[in-house]
Amino acid sequence: MAEGYNLQRGMNFRVKGKDTVILMSVRRGAPYADRTEEDGQILIYEGHDVPRNINESTKAVNQPQFTPNGKLTQNGKFHKAAMDYRNGEPPELVKVYEKIKDGIWVYNGIFELIDAWQEKSGKRKVFKFKLRITDIALREREIMQQGVNDLDHNRMIPTSVKLEVWKRDKGKCVTCGSTDNLHFDHILPFSKGGTSLKTENIQLLCARHNLQKRDKIQ
Ligand SMILES: [Zn+2]
Repeated sequence: MAEGYNLQRGMNFRVKGKDTVILMSVRRGAPYADRTEEDGQILIYEGHDVPRNINESTKAVNQPQFTPNGKLTQNGKFHKAAMDYRNGEPPELVKVYEKIKDGIWVYNGIFELIDAWQEKSGKRKVFKFKLRITDIALREREIMQQGVNDLDHNRMIPTSVKLEVWKRDKGKCVTCGSTDNLHFDHILPFSKGGTSLKTENIQLLCARHNLQKRDKIQ
């Protein structure tokens, strides 16, 4: 909903001229092997399989770079952008959403697409994409462009921590009980050395109380 259209796929390279968006999941049983490294600063995202209507056993064939008509698939578009970056172009900025539970998506912020390759996975080849979390200047630029809703960046709080906090705070703002537009808030801010790794330092806040808290700190 935040992106203003219905995301049908996990990989969305500038769909309809909009921002590039990926949906990730590190949950057990997730369809793709996404993972994070270096305390969540780096995301290794797996490319996507052929569409089911083309091949019944989508996990048996190489992940495609081109469609049958010779156009770039989403894998192909992301791969090309990563190669352009290697050749000196600015990196593609990618918004990352993470599924932490059925029906619960978390915005993880903006990442730069900095590398791509193909590697063997069993008997076939899959795409891998390397993304790096952007620096504070980029986060602030986004705040100016997007307004209030994107003020909070999760700094890749581990999924297990998010789930535990969600359960503990019962999916509500701890201040007012609102269930709308919730953010995972660092009780001691990340910028002041607060950790993302302990549930004791993370709480659920609605956008309004998240903003109020920030105003007080600044
Ligand atoms: Zn609230």
